[in-house]
Amino acid sequence: MATQVHSSSTAPTSAPAPTLAAADPELWRYMQAELERQDSTLELIASENHVSPAILQAMGSVLTNKYAEGYPGARYYGGCQFHDKIEQLAIDRAKQLFGCKFANVQPHSGAQANAATFMALLNAGDTFASLVLSDGGHLSHGMKINFSGKYFKPVHYPLVYDAAHPRFEQIDYDAARQLCLEHKPKMILCGYSAYPRTIDFARFRAIADECGALLMADIAHIAGLVAGGAHPSPFPHAHVVTTTTHKTLRGPRGGLILTNDEEIAKKIDKAVFPGMQGGPLMHIIAAKAVCFGEDLKPEFKEYAKQVVVNAQALAAALTEKGYRLTSGGTDNHLMLVDLRAKDANLTGADAEKWLEAAGIISNKNGIPNDPRPPKVTSGLRLGSPALTTRGFKAPQMKLVATWIDRVLTSAGDAKVATQVRGEILALTKQFPLPH
Ligand SMILES: *Cc1c(COP(=O)(O)O)cnc(C)c1O
Repeated sequence: MATQVHSSSTAPTSAPAPTLAAADPELWRYMQAELERQDSTLELIASENHVSPAILQAMGSVLTNKYAEGYPGARYYGGCQFHDKIEQLAIDRAKQLFGCKFANVQPHSGAQANAATFMALLNAGDTFASLVLSDGGHLSHGMKINFSGKYFKPVHYPLVYDAAHPRFEQIDYDAARQLCLEHKPKMILCGYSAYPRTIDFARFRAIADECGALLMADIAHIAGLVAGGAHPSPFPHAHVVTTTTHKTLRGPRGGLILTNDEEIAKKIDKAVFPGMQGGPLMHIIAAKAVCFGEDLKPEFKEYAKQVVVNAQALAAALTEKGYRLTSGGTDNHLMLVDLRAKDANLTGADAEKWLEAAGIISNKNGIPNDPRPPKVTSGLRLGSPALTTRGFKAPQMKLVATWIDRVLTSAGDAKVATQVRGEILALTKQFPLPH
């Protein structure tokens, strides 16, 4: 019996199958170039990470060949006995990792997980509450042209916008409560894409109970911190929790839905399949199982803690150099830099472009009450998860701050970019990607 299921190592009976490099040299060249790009640059996009070779192996496997519509023990196709085991393993590990009773591991992405949750728990036209989208929310939290804004009615709660307030640019829980009491949403959504502070799930649950709403926590960004004990858990407060598996959880691209409520779990399962999706991506579900297994190990707690330490080291070093961070800093894996405090003319778009030329990959991002349009912005979002995976610690994060500052104060000077690029290349050689 074959012991390997990886497609490149199955033993053929006739001529050996050509490797991808030989079968499709053009595609292979692009893939090699991308590997080289990832290896030689600094990945500071807060939603990205580097997965382990074990996760890559599960994704690149013959599991992709199978239709397994349905759930373990209740499939619409024959030949699913091993797929049942694989999906059950992913479910059991997800439940253990987050300390909850039910898990659906089939959503193809975070947005799909959210769509299925809306479909399970709301009717078209129902009202839900979420953060003002331009203050750090996700497009699946009520953007007009997204399913969430087109078929449901979002009302938005704000941040604290008074600069004199001690919680400036943090969630305004009192205003959220007022808004929810007024509009009586059926569901309150918390969890964000560009929010650097701890979320008070208990406080949101109290608001939900007071106005008779369900609480949905979308922990797409912070799931790895939750799993590793570096951010409070949404359980037992949230009725339902959605997440991606590819951000701080450091798994394959995908989604996950969790709950402790059996009735909600049944509705979620139906909404994912057959409500939203057809056949599950079984190679990705296998990779999720590998990811959850990795995240259950003690080393992952160390990783999660280091992600926060590294973000705070970068935040402190940038602040020292005269950059303003929204809300004054970070409690988690990311920060939003308000570039105007350093240079009134500097835009997020320019910063992103200049940094990329030097080998520092980040993204422009609107800041609360940003006067510039979304394609320009006054902010830059920076995150520590990927660099922490490479083994960076606080001293390297301080170096990163120095490089960012040199590039941003050079007005895009090519000589400075080349110099910084060279120094980054030397450092990345000492911190290889997971291998
Ligand atoms: C990234 C993200 C998602 C969507 O994930 P995709 O896998 O890109 O669909 C959903 N919610 C939040 C808060 C996110 O940050």
